[in-house]
Amino acid sequence: MLKVSKFGGSSLATAEQVCRVCDIITEDPGRRIIVVSAPGKRHSQDIKVTDLLIAAASERLMGKLGASECAEAIERYRSIAAELELPAAAVDAIAHDLTERLENSTENADLYMDTMKAGGEDNCARLIAQALEARGIEARYVSPKDAGLLLSDEPGNAQVLPEAYTQLRELRERSGITIFPGFFGYAKEGHVVTFSRGGSDITGAILASAVRAEVYENFTDVDSVFAANPSIVENPAAIAELTYREMRELSYAGFSVFHDEALEPVYRAQVPVHIRNTNNPQAAGTRIVPNRATNGELPVVGIAAIDSVCCVYLSKYLMNRQIGFGRRLLQVLEAEAISFEHVPSGIDNMSVIVREESLSAEKEQRIVEQLRQQLAPEDVSVERGLSLIMVVGEGMRHTVGMAARATGALAGATVNIEMINQGSNEVSMMFGIKSEDMETAVRALYQEFFERD
Ligand code: ASP
Repeated sequence: MLKVSKFGGSSLATAEQVCRVCDIITEDPGRRIIVVSAPGKRHSQDIKVTDLLIAAASERLMGKLGASECAEAIERYRSIAAELELPAAAVDAIAHDLTERLENSTENADLYMDTMKAGGEDNCARLIAQALEARGIEARYVSPKDAGLLLSDEPGNAQVLPEAYTQLRELRERSGITIFPGFFGYAKEGHVVTFSRGGSDITGAILASAVRAEVYENFTDVDSVFAANPSIVENPAAIAELTYREMRELSYAGFSVFHDEALEPVYRAQVPVHIRNTNNPQAAGTRIVPNRATNGELPVVGIAAIDSVCCVYLSKYLMNRQIGFGRRLLQVLEAEAISFEHVPSGIDNMSVIVREESLSAEKEQRIVEQLRQQLAPEDVSVERGLSLIMVVGEGMRHTVGMAARATGALAGATVNIEMINQGSNEVSMMFGIKSEDMETAVRALYQEFFERD
């Protein structure tokens, strides 16, 4: 049995947590490939090591020193190492490494920033390897460069290159426990590139897929994935099992327990994922599997919501007869490097849903201008302040009346639906509503699908 186990930042925030992680690793001989994040928050007001490193790098890029933020990050490792009674040389090496990164040339700002960010995970992996060795366990830090984790050259947003999988497969053969830093890899030209934030989940998924692990364990700080956001719904139900598609839809719409880009590699290799709690490893957790029995189960597994989206709306009489209308509309967005989320359309109108952060006021002005010129619509407008609510569940495909129940629940809570979209795979229904109604809508839908019976 070979397991890939990933531990998130909150699982590595203190020496006590690190001890717990070492206990978990050693109690199962299957846990031979371990992926670690950088130390996260110790309490709600705390700052993650990655954020400290980003702050230090930003300072340097503005021509300042960034020394105090970097020193704070080093201090985080120092306090963990001191409590674990690791040799001083371990911390000296970390301090040297982070200082060197800070003092690197800032000429290429993206490269500089990614190199700093990667320092959090890289040093954490070295520290965990030493903590295990101190217990007399054969554990070794492995560098993503040596292992061949090749990524596209997209700083802060890289993607794995297909050729990486063959090289990474060799990790299977290594003796002892491999400690692998999450979040970053290398471009073909040899420089560091990072995934998007929270990307250690992606590293774990890539390794689990490459070595064809029996399971990819993702240790975090909650007992399971919940059916709704616990800050909106009181005591939401725990989800025992989800399919890859359900998890993808939920994480797309804000379930941050598991990075949405981490699903593709495990889906491809059909490696099941097990989300577990470092602080309560006895809990059953949530399993993400290729298929699950939907008979007798609730048709809906979860309700998610994304805030801060906006809608670019166009109407033109006889739009349906105009060949290339949709393509030209999307090309205008493409020219501004905006990716779209959904495109609900009618006979004579089309809406394009995009994330608000990608549409600055200047871009909006240029886009509206271009759309007017190129498509001569009767109406073009941009509405901000919208939310998308996703009702997710494979069981909806086999159940009649799901849309009626959802719209009935929203009407009962006097939430006005601005848009409805259901993908043809019928794993989810999406409702566009005003952001101020988001929490009411989530509660109403949760009540309808989880509490009514
Ligand atoms: N440390 C990185 C972040 O905070 C990556 C991760 O934790 O997965 O985004």
